[in-house]
Amino acid sequence: MITGSFPIAKLAHRETPFYYYDTRVLRETLAEVNTCASVFAHATVHYAVKACATSEILRIIAQAGLGADCVSGGEIQAAIEQGVTPDKIVFAGVAKTDREIRYALEQGIACFNVESQAEVEVIDRLAAEMGRVANVCLRINPNIDAHTHAKITTGMRENKFGIQMCDLEEAVRDVVQRQHIAFKGLHFHIGSQITDMQVFAVLAERINELVVRAEQIAPVQHINVGGGLGILYEHPNHFPIPDFRAYFDTYRRCLHVREDQTVHFELGRSIVAQCGNLMTRVLYVKKGVEKQFAIVDAGMTDLIRPALYGAFHRIENISNPDAEEQTYDIVGPICESSDVFVEGYRIAQVQRGDLLAIRSAGAYGEVMASRYNLRRLPGHWIE
Ligand SMILES: *Cc1c(COP(=O)(O)O)cnc(C)c1O
Repeated sequence: MITGSFPIAKLAHRETPFYYYDTRVLRETLAEVNTCASVFAHATVHYAVKACATSEILRIIAQAGLGADCVSGGEIQAAIEQGVTPDKIVFAGVAKTDREIRYALEQGIACFNVESQAEVEVIDRLAAEMGRVANVCLRINPNIDAHTHAKITTGMRENKFGIQMCDLEEAVRDVVQRQHIAFKGLHFHIGSQITDMQVFAVLAERINELVVRAEQIAPVQHINVGGGLGILYEHPNHFPIPDFRAYFDTYRRCLHVREDQTVHFELGRSIVAQCGNLMTRVLYVKKGVEKQFAIVDAGMTDLIRPALYGAFHRIENISNPDAEEQTYDIVGPICESSDVFVEGYRIAQVQRGDLLAIRSAGAYGEVMASRYNLRRLPGHWIE
């Protein structure tokens, strides 16, 4: 599939900035995920809702049969509202509140991914009060470097996420003796935007060792490997669908899975990133001494990734794709120096009023928008 043709007539009259989601890309991505995941006899893919929680997008993902990986009570509610059944919902996060835990128990979600022994104690007590039993996987920090951006790595020893490997046996022993908790297995998640399959191979091997250790005490039914598969931000048109085949094959080769075990995957970015575009209009073209600026009406409040992580997004001039290229810093209207989408970027010459598409913005885009400067939240248009 080659993408990159925009329904300009339908987009041009809309008030900018807004997110444009191409559901054809999303549906093809989901079909590929389901096909490639079927190399496992027993696998479930939980979509990481935090990547994009736009209701229409969630509904399409639910319809494709994926479960949901949630990190707050709000996400659990959003997933249920869009058709994910609670038996396909898992709940992660380092700081689950009592209220969120009670809500998840009430709804009867599939599993809590628990990040500390203190949390085990709280879930056990709340479940007892409600006369329920909570299914639990223990999130273990496998101390693996995901070789990704420092702000999106989560599996290193000094990170706030998960239980330390050296505490594994103690944590499993504690869980299995509790009345209102059922031990289901182990959970991992080492970071995001990982494009080197070797990283997942190393994780799989570490998981194999940890499962053996845990099974000295209790059977591990669920092996949850987390998410983190990256996408090609440079090439949204030629590689709109991530290499799910290589991803699932890596785990199939490297992870030891028995017939009675289920493998869980939690993909976020790789499912929704390429179907979303932030559409913005050029307000002013300003020549500096050495640079020229294209000042657009979208800013870091609409898409914070460039300002937050120095992330790259391809930008295209949809109004005048064939104009001769020029070099610009493309910047937003927010009163912050970090409100820059890209510097020294070659793009078809822009004029006031041109519509630009900031590509690959479906993940960690709209969902992170804020109202700083008392701006309106970006809307969206879905086709
Ligand atoms: C964010 C997150 C994911 C999804 O990560 P992606 O890089 O978007 O695939 C999966 N699992 C957990 C626990 C997460 O926090």
